[in-house]
Amino acid sequence: MATISDNLQRVRNRIALACARAGRDPASVQLLAVSKTFDADAVQAAHAAGQRAFGENYVQEGVGKIQALRAVGLPGLVWHCIGPLQSNKTRPVAEHFDWVHTVDRLKIAQRLSEQRPAHLAPLQVCVQVNVDGGPNKSGVAPAEALALAQAVAALPRLRLRGLMCIPEPAPDVAAACAVLGRARALFDDLVATGLPLDTLSMGMSDDLEAAVASGSTMVRVGSAIFGRRVYPDAA
Ligand SMILES: *Cc1c(COP(=O)(O)O)cnc(C)c1O
Repeated sequence: MATISDNLQRVRNRIALACARAGRDPASVQLLAVSKTFDADAVQAAHAAGQRAFGENYVQEGVGKIQALRAVGLPGLVWHCIGPLQSNKTRPVAEHFDWVHTVDRLKIAQRLSEQRPAHLAPLQVCVQVNVDGGPNKSGVAPAEALALAQAVAALPRLRLRGLMCIPEPAPDVAAACAVLGRARALFDDLVATGLPLDTLSMGMSDDLEAAVASGSTMVRVGSAIFGRRVYPDAA
């Protein structure tokens, strides 16, 4: 059976190959390992294989792992919240995570900024954009991204890093690249206004090649590293 270490190496190779094909430096694409539904041991195995950045979707589950691994003393872990955020769940996120990718309205951003403890570095954030108008409705409309990004950038305890998107599955690579390319164009438009952005979070296990070809700087990969997820409800 393939181990987490084998899988990580395979994903790193996929990213390197996609970068080579796109004429990009492999160091320009960060790998975020999405550990949702997997336990702290799985994170530890990935850490032993050199992985440092981890993504979690569910606040309670993520905070549990963050605390467990802090107690173990694993060095260098960076935790990214990539799940939808309700305003009554912002406090544990502000107190425990390093990054949030799913800021899609000002109220959430204001709460995160107010609740970020003074002894921690500013919370690193991406504005989530609903780039294809998909039915899941998370994310700000592309036309509203600049205004939200500017408002978020002005908050004292947040540091705006870029944009994040989760497009609907596309029928083929060309269609995927068309949507992902629109996200990149929007990112470039925001940078051109003077916002100091360096992160475009897009691409998952099934579309990371298309995302790298389209200009992603951070791919969020779960099942290709940790295996198929089993949700408690479906067990
Ligand atoms: C679960 C999840 C991922 C990882 O998905 P895989 O298909 O398992 O790679 C990436 N991004 C978000 C927002 C997710 O919820």
